[in-house]
Parts: sequence; structure tokens; C-alpha cells
Amino acid sequence: MNRRLLHVAAGILFTTVAMAQDTDGIIEKIITEENQNSQLKAIAHELLDVVGPRLVGTPQMKQAHDWAVSKYKSWGITAENQQWGTWRGWERGITHIDMLEPRLRTLEGRQLAWSPSTKDKGITAEVTTMPIPQDSLSFVKSLSSIKGKFVLISQPEATGRPDENWEEWATEESFEKMKKEREEAGKLWSSSFAKTGLDRRTMPQALEKAGAAGIISSYWSKGFGVNKVFSAYTKKIPTVDLSLEDYGLLYRLTESGNTPKLHIVATSKDLGEVPTFNTIARIEGTEKPDEYVILSAHFDSWDGGTGATDNGTGTLVMMEAMRVLKKIYPNPKRTILVGHWGSEEQGLNGSRAFVKDHPEIVKGIQAVFNQDNGTGRIANISGNGFLNAYDYLGSWLYAVPGEVKGDLETHFPGTPGRGGSDYASFVAAGAPAFNLSSLSWNYWNYTWHTNRDTYDKIVFDDLQKNVMLTAILAYMASEDPDTTSRQQIVLPMNRRSGEQMTWPEATDANRRGGLDND
Ligand SMILES: [Zn+2]
Repeated sequence: MNRRLLHVAAGILFTTVAMAQDTDGIIEKIITEENQNSQLKAIAHELLDVVGPRLVGTPQMKQAHDWAVSKYKSWGITAENQQWGTWRGWERGITHIDMLEPRLRTLEGRQLAWSPSTKDKGITAEVTTMPIPQDSLSFVKSLSSIKGKFVLISQPEATGRPDENWEEWATEESFEKMKKEREEAGKLWSSSFAKTGLDRRTMPQALEKAGAAGIISSYWSKGFGVNKVFSAYTKKIPTVDLSLEDYGLLYRLTESGNTPKLHIVATSKDLGEVPTFNTIARIEGTEKPDEYVILSAHFDSWDGGTGATDNGTGTLVMMEAMRVLKKIYPNPKRTILVGHWGSEEQGLNGSRAFVKDHPEIVKGIQAVFNQDNGTGRIANISGNGFLNAYDYLGSWLYAVPGEVKGDLETHFPGTPGRGGSDYASFVAAGAPAFNLSSLSWNYWNYTWHTNRDTYDKIVFDDLQKNVMLTAILAYMASEDPDTTSRQQIVLPMNRRSGEQMTWPEATDANRRGGLDND
């Protein structure tokens, strides 16, 4: 049979299967429910605006888990929080950063996650740049100059405009000139930094040991107004991140000898070791309760914004899909389970622990659908190297109306996704797990781990489509007369390295985190 004929034949077969399974018009009812009665805006507000960001180990993370359980219960869905480990407990307090000299200005910035606290009345000190070393020895000697001061440790940016903006407005020559100067400054910075013998993690600790009053960094995310906000490495003194604009201001003032003096209040509470959870909810299967369709999205986030697109949107899609399924398809053939994982951001910890703790569930997995790259319409699904994924995933997708799937692309059999998000924990255990990959909406620069990852960036129309797609896939996977094949392809050679590709390994979860980070 030629390829085209095969496709036609497959098409007819899939239509027959889909129609045979959907005599009650479930698919249409899913779409209608989401179109007419979507709860996305309401739950987005409750989770993102009221509870807020969900950094593992914080009280807000625990509140989010409790909120999710009670939300599921209000929809008649069984749910619970399952402890998977412990983490360093911490609670963000007030950050207020004022420049007192050479003029008064309140600066835009925030404490990094897990940063030590200042006292309530804060710290007042002068600002200095890092000493430029000739070698590691001269660097250590010059460290006396930073004692009692706030130290600027990031390289100042060459421009506060994103490259797209230069591309649009600059002459070609000036854009090229800026890029060249930026590249040279970057090289100089890295080579000076290398001479200290320290790295981004050990530098703040060395400065702390040398008596710095605090560390000031700036991690620009290459767009207007965006910084990425990760964790602090200091143990006693505060670390704050400043906006590109205010960081550049301090840097220039320091270099010109107009030494700035700052008053920083950056409070937080160290809460010791606290338990960490996954929220698991389920709609019990009626015919094959020991086989599982798993909806998956990590629940934790960084806390520069409210984690709206990483991974609030994945979370909202899975929650809303569960609500719709419970209402329209309350007696599934297979059990439909949703996992809202804690601590994906520190290494897929919640999902890895779940896989380890529940071999009986992993053994019965029909399919896992994970979502974790922002608010856009799901545009790409890979077979992740499962040899027969085209047969089952292809037939489920065939049942999804065009108005829902748009121009979704598939890649079969694909190769195993590596590490990126929680589906990898399941693939590593041999279970057919797939990532529902979204259109970007400038995810990498503008919302991923940034201070601007907030409710207003959500595109609810796209999210509604994702709810419909996810719910229909869950329904089709649950109803499929066949259990899915787990056979994996023989992995090809990596074209670039010429080496044999390998399947991701089932690495253990880091179940006790951040407690002795040295
Ligand atoms: Zn994520």
C-alpha cells in the first residue's frame, strides 16, 4: 500500500473507532461545557491572585495544595495531598530598596528566593562593584574593599532595549556596533570573573565571608521590564535582584565616583524543614480501574511573579479538564488521575517521587498528558520514541474536531523528551507519557521564571482550547478498547555528536532539599 492510501485507510479506521466510542456525543458536550461554563478565570484568580506564587517550602505552596483539594471536593472529585519529601521552609517578607545618595529614589527590586533576612529596620550602606582581579590571590587581597558594603555582582547590560527593538529601529551599522561592543564586554567580564576562581554560586558566598553587607544582582530576561528571579546563595546577608534600569543606574554612579548609598529592607522567615506534597485527584474507572490516564502539570513555581504561565496555565488546564470530565463523563472506563506536582523547578522532584512510590499505578498507565510551557495553544505533540504512539495517540487526536486542534503538529515516533518537564519522570519508567507543547507567546523572555509572570499574561481563549483538547484526549484514551503499547524505538545516532542516543534515566527525586546548600 502506498503511503497516501495507508493514511486514507487509517483515517477511515479512526473515524469508525471514534464514532463507535462517542455514541453519547461526549466530545461535543465537552466542547459545549467549556465554551458555555468555563471556570478558568475564576480558578486563575483564586490561585494566582489570592494564593499567589508557589515556591516549594513556602506557606503559599501549602495553601495552594489545600486550595486545590477543596476545589476538587467542591466538584465532587476525590483529592488528597500526598507528602513526597521535605524542603527548606521559607517565607518572603517585605522588600523595600531606597537609594539615599546621591539623590533619593525608590528602586525596583526584590529579594531572591530563600535569601536571609535583614532586620525589620533594614541595612544602610554604600554600594561598590566587585574588585577586578589580576588573579585569584589579588582578588582575595582586594576583598577588604567590599567590607560593610552592598556589592554589585552582575555584569551591567549594554542596552535596556531587547534585540527586536534594535532590529526595528537601529541602522544596521549601529546594531552591529552595539552587538560587537556587547560581545567584547561579555568576554572581558567572563575572563575577569574566571580569574577569581569562583562561579555564580560561590562568588556571593566569598563576598559574604569577606564582610559584604548584602549582594545585589540583576538577571535581565532580555525584554522590557523583565528579570528572572531565582534563589540566593548567601547564608547570612540578603541577596536582592534589581531591575536592569536601577542596576545600571547604581553601576554607573559607582563607577563615576558618585557613590550611591542604599537603605534595604528585605525581610523573610526561615521556617526550618517542612513537608512537601503532590496534590492527586481521581475519577474512578468503572471497567478498568487499575489502568490510568494521567493528567500532569507541576504546581510549584518561582516567586518573582505569580507563576501564571509556569505553570499556572498547565495547572488550570488540567484542573478545568478534570471538572469538565467529572461533569460530562463521570464514569470513565479507566481511572482518570491528575497529578499537581510539587518541586518540578528543582528537578522534577514531585513526579519522580510519585513514580517511585506508586509502581502499581505506573504499571497500569494508559497515557500521561503533561503541559508546562505557557499559555499558548497546544501546537505540538511528540510520540516521545514510543514505537506505536502513532496508532493510539494518532487515533485519539483524529477524534478531536479541527476547531479545537487547529494546526497541531505531531511527530511520530519522535525521540524521548529529555528532562524538560514531568512527563520525563514517566518516560524514564517506561510509561507512555507525552508533552502537550504550546505556542510560545514570548514565554522564554517575558514570562518564564520572571517578575512579570502574572494573571494578565494568560490568553484564556487558548487555554479553553487546551482544556477541550486535554479532556477529549483523556476521554479517548480512557475508552480505547486496547491497552497502549510501551514498546520503545531503537534510538538513532545523534546527528551532531555521532553518539548513540540514550533513554532518560529514572533518577531519584531529591526528597530533602535546600537544607544544607553549600
Ligand atoms: Zn515549568
